[in-house]
Amino acid sequence: MTEAASTKAPKEASAPVVARHAATLKALPFSDTRDFEDAARGFLGTVENARITSAQGRVVWSLEPYGFLSDAEAPPTVDPSLWRQSRLNMNHGIFEVVPGVYQIRGLDIANMTLIESERGVIVVDTLTSIEGARAAMELYFRHRGRRSVAAVIFTHTHTDHWGGARGVLDDETMASGKVPIIAPNLFMEHAVSENIIAGPAMLRRAQYQFGPFLAKGVRGQVDCGLGKSMAAGSVALLRPTDLIMATGDKRTLDGLEFEFQMAPNSEAPAEMHFFIPRYKLLNLAENCTHNFHNLLPFRGADVRDALAWSKYLGEALQMWGGKAEAMCGQQSL
Ligand SMILES: [Zn+2]
Repeated sequence: MTEAASTKAPKEASAPVVARHAATLKALPFSDTRDFEDAARGFLGTVENARITSAQGRVVWSLEPYGFLSDAEAPPTVDPSLWRQSRLNMNHGIFEVVPGVYQIRGLDIANMTLIESERGVIVVDTLTSIEGARAAMELYFRHRGRRSVAAVIFTHTHTDHWGGARGVLDDETMASGKVPIIAPNLFMEHAVSENIIAGPAMLRRAQYQFGPFLAKGVRGQVDCGLGKSMAAGSVALLRPTDLIMATGDKRTLDGLEFEFQMAPNSEAPAEMHFFIPRYKLLNLAENCTHNFHNLLPFRGADVRDALAWSKYLGEALQMWGGKAEAMCGQQSL
């Protein structure tokens, strides 16, 4: 979809759309702005406009085209809830979750979490592209100092959570074989079947679902809810070296203990959560975000089992509700 195609969109919202947006404004508590404070909390710094380029100078990610989101009030053509969420998703950079745990947000549709361990740092999810992951690591190093990567964790099988792994692990680290790559059971089977075997069809449909080629603007692409849109750039799938097989499995990574919970057939066919006792931090991957996740992805990914999904959240609450003091996810704020 090109700029020309988007000009076919109506210039003004129709009367039923205006009425629906007015009803939304009335029904929901828009005066509650705590999410804006939460989204900005812990901000340490960023890259201008979250702009990331490839070695050839191609822009793989930038929030610059979304400058039109500066108005607090939604224009008539955009649903007020989407407008609010799209403004929240303009927060970008490195954020402190708790001292010792940091997140890179807004440099991709997904988040990267960096957990400081005894000697190094554990990287949870590596964004969509190698270029994006490199930029995220540089931003982290700039604010927290250079640390070696002690482990990589993939929370689930969607490309925006593993595609950039080669931007986190360089040739030397890969050759040493010393850095474990941890993922939920059946990770490769599902990552390959969704993204490689079904890849070309799924990618084409994802382009309709997320609208990356639509012109950005109040009559074009605004946001996807979870984040801005699909990122461009180079992608490489790395095979995990250690699979988490069961709820209750533990690992000690560079002196830091992790407790895992399996969450298969939730937001992804292979997905997992974890708790870090030292940080009293719960990470619920992409299963608990500040927005209502779709259950039937238009791009043709597996239909999600809503009942199983809700049970995993209940189980997480039972396992760690009394211990956790902070929670983070791998998408949105
Ligand atoms: Zn996902």
